[in-house]
Amino acid sequence: MERCRICQKPLAQNEIGATKKLINRNTTEFLCVHCLAEKFGVTEERINEMIETFKKNGCTLFV
Ligand SMILES: [Zn+2]
Repeated sequence: MERCRICQKPLAQNEIGATKKLINRNTTEFLCVHCLAEKFGVTEERINEMIETFKKNGCTLFV
Protein backbone atom coordinates (compact mmCIF):
# COMPACT_ATOMS: atom_id res chain seq x y z
CA MET A 1 0.00 0.00 0.00
CA GLU A 2 1.20 3.51 -0.81
CA ARG A 3 1.78 5.86 2.10
CA CYS A 4 1.93 9.63 2.33
CA ARG A 5 5.50 10.79 1.75
CA ILE A 6 5.23 13.33 4.57
CA CYS A 7 3.07 11.82 7.34
CA GLN A 8 3.16 8.10 6.36
CA LYS A 9 -0.62 7.80 6.45
CA PRO A 10 -1.90 4.94 4.24
CA LEU A 11 -3.41 6.50 1.13
CA ALA A 12 -6.78 6.06 -0.52
CA GLN A 13 -6.93 5.62 -4.29
CA ASN A 14 -8.34 9.13 -4.65
CA GLU A 15 -5.44 10.66 -2.74
CA ILE A 16 -3.01 9.00 -5.11
CA GLY A 17 -5.11 10.29 -8.01
CA ALA A 18 -5.18 13.79 -6.56
CA THR A 19 -1.41 13.84 -6.18
CA LYS A 20 -1.01 12.81 -9.80
CA LYS A 21 -3.42 15.50 -10.96
CA LEU A 22 -2.10 18.29 -8.77
CA ILE A 23 1.63 17.58 -8.84
CA ASN A 24 2.67 15.29 -11.66
CA ARG A 25 1.03 12.35 -13.38
CA ASN A 26 4.32 10.44 -13.30
CA THR A 27 5.13 11.06 -9.66
CA THR A 28 5.99 8.05 -7.54
CA GLU A 29 5.71 9.90 -4.23
CA PHE A 30 2.19 10.57 -3.03
CA LEU A 31 0.59 12.82 -0.44
CA CYS A 32 -2.58 12.48 1.62
CA VAL A 33 -5.35 15.09 1.38
CA HIS A 34 -4.10 16.81 4.52
CA CYS A 35 -0.53 17.20 3.24
CA LEU A 36 -1.70 18.17 -0.26
CA ALA A 37 -3.78 20.94 1.31
CA GLU A 38 -0.77 22.20 3.29
CA LYS A 39 1.47 22.06 0.25
CA PHE A 40 -0.92 24.11 -1.85
CA GLY A 41 -2.00 26.40 0.99
CA VAL A 42 -5.68 25.47 0.73
CA THR A 43 -8.15 23.65 2.98
CA GLU A 44 -8.61 19.88 2.95
CA GLU A 45 -12.20 20.60 1.94
CA ARG A 46 -10.94 22.32 -1.21
CA ILE A 47 -8.83 19.28 -2.11
CA ASN A 48 -11.85 17.02 -1.61
CA GLU A 49 -13.90 19.32 -3.85
CA MET A 50 -11.21 19.04 -6.52
CA ILE A 51 -11.33 15.24 -6.23
CA GLU A 52 -15.12 15.34 -6.69
CA THR A 53 -14.69 17.55 -9.76
CA PHE A 54 -12.10 15.22 -11.28
CA LYS A 55 -14.43 12.28 -10.66
CA LYS A 56 -17.37 14.06 -12.30
CA ASN A 57 -15.19 14.78 -15.30
CA GLY A 58 -14.68 11.04 -15.64
CA CYS A 59 -11.00 11.03 -14.77
CA THR A 60 -9.85 7.41 -14.55
CA LEU A 61 -7.42 8.15 -11.72
CA PHE A 62 -10.35 8.29 -9.30
CA VAL A 63 -12.82 5.76 -7.93
ZN1 LIG B 1 0.18 13.19 4.75
